[in-house]
Amino acid sequence: MKSIIFIAPPAAGKGTHSTLVEEKYGIPHISTGDLLRSAKNANDDRAKLISELIEQGKLVPDEIVLELLKERLAQEDCKNGYILDGFPRNVSQAEAYDKILSEINMPLGNVILLELDKEIAKKRITGRLTCPKCNAIYNSEAEELKPQVDGYCDNCHVELQHRSDDNAETYDVRYDTYMRETAPLIDYYDAKGVLFRIDSSVGKERTFKEIEKIIGE
Ligand code: ATP
Ligand code: MG
Repeated sequence: MKSIIFIAPPAAGKGTHSTLVEEKYGIPHISTGDLLRSAKNANDDRAKLISELIEQGKLVPDEIVLELLKERLAQEDCKNGYILDGFPRNVSQAEAYDKILSEINMPLGNVILLELDKEIAKKRITGRLTCPKCNAIYNSEAEELKPQVDGYCDNCHVELQHRSDDNAETYDVRYDTYMRETAPLIDYYDAKGVLFRIDSSVGKERTFKEIEKIIGE
């Protein structure tokens, strides 16, 4: 099974589709946003810095992200491929990742770009709810993404939370960060011949069908 990297503007569906790929194909979903949100619960300077940067919609330094990612990739369940959601987020991370892959002798896999207009993505964040325990994503504004019981996770039954960086003001900074730092990765991976573009504005089911076509049965 090939690994998958999702690239997309914030709130364009990386987390949602990573979970669907994980369920269908049985490879683990690795979200650097989730890894960082866990790391920010520690009581040290690193946790404080991570909290501040996420709150501001800026990128966390590469060293921190790479350390957390390497730790995660060393786990047994990554041996047959995995899904990267939120990494790499700039060209220097992509270059560092190429080096890691050659060290651990793993292929790059496919890169899927989920395309979505800024204004649509921005609307999605206001209703987005996240499970603090299993990181499942819901949306109170979209029928197909609502939890079964209002405000509670379908899997864990704990109360869902609204991420503190999911507000209109931080969204604008996150989007600018994406355009400046992450969008150059589109050319980076296109040049390697591994990039697939998918329209993420057509609803979860239809978007996932396109993803299945790329990955195969
Ligand atoms: P979405 O999850 O809806 O696609 P998003 O991509 O903005 O939105 P996350 O991937 O959860 O959200 O990331 C949240 C924050 O975590 C980012 O704004 C950034 O501060 C930090 N972060 C996540 N991944 C990285 C990374 N690879 N490098 C640097 N910072 C990161
Ligand atoms: Mg996410």
